[in-house]
Amino acid sequence: MKSIVYFNGKFLPYEEACIPLATHALHYGTGCFEGIRGYWSVEKKKLSVFKLRQHYERLQKSCTRLLMKLPNNIDELCQITIEVLKRNNYSEDVYIRPLIYKSSEIITAFNLRKLDDGFAIYTTPLGRYLNASKGIKAITSSWQRVSEKMIPPWAKPTGLYLNTALAKTEAEDKGFDEAILLNTDGSVSEGSAENIFLVRGRKLITPSSTQNILLGITRATIIELAKKEFNIETEERKIDKKELFEADEMFVTGTGAEVTPLTQINGHKINGGNIGRVTKDLQTYYFSIVRAKNNKYSHWLTKV
Ligand code: PMP
Repeated sequence: MKSIVYFNGKFLPYEEACIPLATHALHYGTGCFEGIRGYWSVEKKKLSVFKLRQHYERLQKSCTRLLMKLPNNIDELCQITIEVLKRNNYSEDVYIRPLIYKSSEIITAFNLRKLDDGFAIYTTPLGRYLNASKGIKAITSSWQRVSEKMIPPWAKPTGLYLNTALAKTEAEDKGFDEAILLNTDGSVSEGSAENIFLVRGRKLITPSSTQNILLGITRATIIELAKKEFNIETEERKIDKKELFEADEMFVTGTGAEVTPLTQINGHKINGGNIGRVTKDLQTYYFSIVRAKNNKYSHWLTKV
């Protein structure tokens, strides 16, 4: 991967940013991260980052919970990120990955307070993560979502993503695109790396913050746009698994996943297997914003 990264205070070529074998985070998943997207505008020949500050605000909260200390304040982290992007001189869509991790080279210590923190940002070109134009087929996973009493799922901890990987692997092994994870009581939590929305009539329904979800930045964006631009309310609550089969439309949201229609669940077709009107409208509006074609929400974009 040829790029310039930010690694423990320095801008370096990717291959020079090496992590020693004994690094605590590598063995025990003691890290947390963000996933941010930069969109290249073909017309304006400009790269813009979507909700950059909000991602660092979430990282800051995660760090407080996981007893990690970011090396810089949020303004500085935003500036460093823009500098990394400038140095890479992209002219395509990119993904930005800030990572904070327990860097101590030690095998025994588990007291988070006693471990050092490392911090890095790397970036990579990234097109579509899921098939947003066609819609995806999902299964309800046999893996349950990790409860917030085990690991705080809202903090995006690196270790939690083994749960994601197991669920995603199972889904793809069975010939599906995505996994929807349920909580221990069988209620709906979220996709492997996305939040889920059900459409019932002119209403959105999504699992509430108590349902072991990551409070997605795209989720918040969609709730806001649905209300302001389409006069559609969102109910945030506990969702029973059977409601998945009663929805008029369904879609998943995420920085990577953007707004992706979910047209089949466990072999059951949603909206006859077609993308629904509400999903399409929200998706189109979302893309107009991130692709810098919508002046009303241009304050959500940071130009590189
Ligand atoms: N849930 C999980 C587990 C995720 O990894 C992601 C992707 N970051 C999301 C939801 C969506 O969050 P966001 O919209 O902030 O990317």
